[in-house]
Amino acid sequence: MVDVVAPQAVPGASGPPLAELGLPRVPGRRAGPLSGLSPSRAADFMTCPLLFRFRTVDRLPEPPSAAAARGTLVHGVLEHLFDLDAVERTPDRAAAMLPETWDGLVAVEPELAELAGEPGEDRDAWFAAAADLLDRYFLLEDPSRLQPAERELYVETELDGGLRLRGYVDRLDIAPGGDLRVVDYKTGRAPGVGYEAKAMFQMRFYALVLWKLRGVVPRLLQLVYLGSGEVLRYEPDEADLRATERKVVAIWHAIERAHEQRDWRPSPSRLCDWCAHHAICPAFGGTPPPLPVEVGSVDETPAEVEQVERSG
Ligand code: SF4
Repeated sequence: MVDVVAPQAVPGASGPPLAELGLPRVPGRRAGPLSGLSPSRAADFMTCPLLFRFRTVDRLPEPPSAAAARGTLVHGVLEHLFDLDAVERTPDRAAAMLPETWDGLVAVEPELAELAGEPGEDRDAWFAAAADLLDRYFLLEDPSRLQPAERELYVETELDGGLRLRGYVDRLDIAPGGDLRVVDYKTGRAPGVGYEAKAMFQMRFYALVLWKLRGVVPRLLQLVYLGSGEVLRYEPDEADLRATERKVVAIWHAIERAHEQRDWRPSPSRLCDWCAHHAICPAFGGTPPPLPVEVGSVDETPAEVEQVERSG
């Protein structure tokens, strides 16, 4: 099913320009604890400030998940599929790339190996599920008719107040006329009705960065959900991206305020089901560890950004 999402205002991001809100517009890099933000970490804070703290301030480890590892594997195959000649980009060829791509990932991160299950039925089923996701990709797009301009593109730009926005774009297509299409693969299912705009935040974030970097508003943002075989599309405009900028800056200031006040509140929701920190979360009767006396930078490295963005 193809679902076209109508343009919507970004919640909490409408209103007067930043200067009128008294927010800083100091040129150059700020010396605060957070000088950069990725869409994943911004989404963490919007979901639950305490989750943001656990991940970004405390940097608590989270158990690796087989589904996230499979997501990284499928992203890897879809990246390298376009190294092949167009006629070779077939479902069978993509499935055949799974073992070699997995071996390459395990060579870099040996601890991934056990996530694919024990050799035998477990592992076969794990790879079969990855092959199913790739098969679904071919139902949504014909990669023999595409030649991406960029794959796994690291993008970073600095806003007026000094905040750096960064992330990895799965794929960037450029039409002969110069139109940009930003594509992101998701190995999960498409969001339910009413949650599309939230899912599209990441893509608006990338569109904002690309607009700043290239001076062109991307024509189309496309989320490809391999879990359910659906595509969400959205056509942003300048007003949209300005609203996204205001929203991102507002998140940044809220994070800095939480950091200064050492106040990271839990915000329970159904997303708690996927949180690894129940045992230390007050919403589940737990007690968070003491905050470090001194918290320096809470920035992610580009490698951390890549790891999070590629596992979805
Ligand atoms: S369990 Fe829920 S409320 Fe607690 S930290 Fe995780 S996401 Fe936040």
